[in-house]
Amino acid sequence: MKIILIGPPGAGKGTQAKRLEEKYKIVQLSTGDMLRAEVAAGSELGTQAKAIMEKGGLVPDDLIIGMISGRIDQADCANGFILDGFPRTVPQAEALDDMFQAKGMELDGVIEVVVDDDAMVARITGRFTCAKCGAGYHDTFQRPRQEGVCDNCGGSEFTRRADDNEQTVRERLKAYHDQTAPITGYYGQRGLLKTVDGMASIDEVTKQLTDILG
Ligand code: ADP
Ligand code: ADP
Ligand code: ZN
Repeated sequence: MKIILIGPPGAGKGTQAKRLEEKYKIVQLSTGDMLRAEVAAGSELGTQAKAIMEKGGLVPDDLIIGMISGRIDQADCANGFILDGFPRTVPQAEALDDMFQAKGMELDGVIEVVVDDDAMVARITGRFTCAKCGAGYHDTFQRPRQEGVCDNCGGSEFTRRADDNEQTVRERLKAYHDQTAPITGYYGQRGLLKTVDGMASIDEVTKQLTDILG
């Protein structure tokens, strides 16, 4: 199964992708996570991306396309994957089509997580992640069952992203509407686009997704 999740920052793409990974035995491919790993490793790509990410802009298409093309060739992707945060521009969507064709792969569907922008600042500024296993949490909406302890791995260290501040979120929302939202039309025209209500509870969104995916 090969699917794309589309939605603005804070829509819940990462949260849902982690749940779909387990249910369908497919891997989450988050270009944001991949870029943060490049930044942490101090690679050339990471060096080019860092300042852009800190400001909430989009990293150039050619860098992203090369990164994802190499990733989907890896063995763990053989059973399928969820693209989270890619494609983010029409040229990226076109490049993905070419890539799939060249690799003999087929896209099963594209799901847009529809949310109110007004709610996304609170979602993003309250977001934190387990440093050990990457499980996602929120100060208000998804607290660990036991304060300070990861539900998933028992870890007690958490991190917050440098770009999860109000000013950068507003830039990222703008980039989403200017550059990413047009790809819903690109897939809609081909009958590939479905939507879920991202303002519903996390469990309810998962149910809507699994109803679509079967
Ligand atoms: P994205 O990957 O789309 O940027 P995340 O999955 O990281 O978004 O979710 C952003 C924040 O909002 C996280 O802290 C997460 O715990 C929380 N969250 C995700 N989905 C919901 C939801 N349906 N209702 C309330 N909070 C949510
Ligand atoms: P979120 O879903 O919370 O907006 P991501 O983790 O997907 O954030 O992305 C973080 C940052 O990484 C983006 O603001 C952007 O600078 C960069 N980025 C991630 N994916 C892409 C992409 N497909 N194209 C261009 N830039 C990207
Ligand atoms: Zn953990």
